[in-house]
Amino acid sequence: MAIELIDAELCSGCAACVDSCPMDVIRMDPDEDVAVIRYGEDCMMCELCVVDCPEDAITVTPFAVSPPVRSWG
Ligand code: SF4
Ligand code: SF4
Repeated sequence: MAIELIDAELCSGCAACVDSCPMDVIRMDPDEDVAVIRYGEDCMMCELCVVDCPEDAITVTPFAVSPPVRSWG
């Protein structure tokens, strides 16, 4: 997993996360004036965006809990 969510309700549109992301994952939505995930597959989970967000609006999940593997037969 990687960056999962930018909460538009919390986002103030400061663009700090856009500036801090070294992978260019996040862009500003010009219509809504909030940050959005554009290239989530490029996220390297550095969490710089989380650290720099003053509104605590970004969720990055480095290690997702996988469902248990079941075998058949
Ligand atoms: S965790 Fe790092 S690479 Fe991923 S979106 Fe945030 S700043 Fe960019
Ligand atoms: S740093 Fe946080 S508040 Fe600022 S644009 Fe990004 S998500 Fe929104």
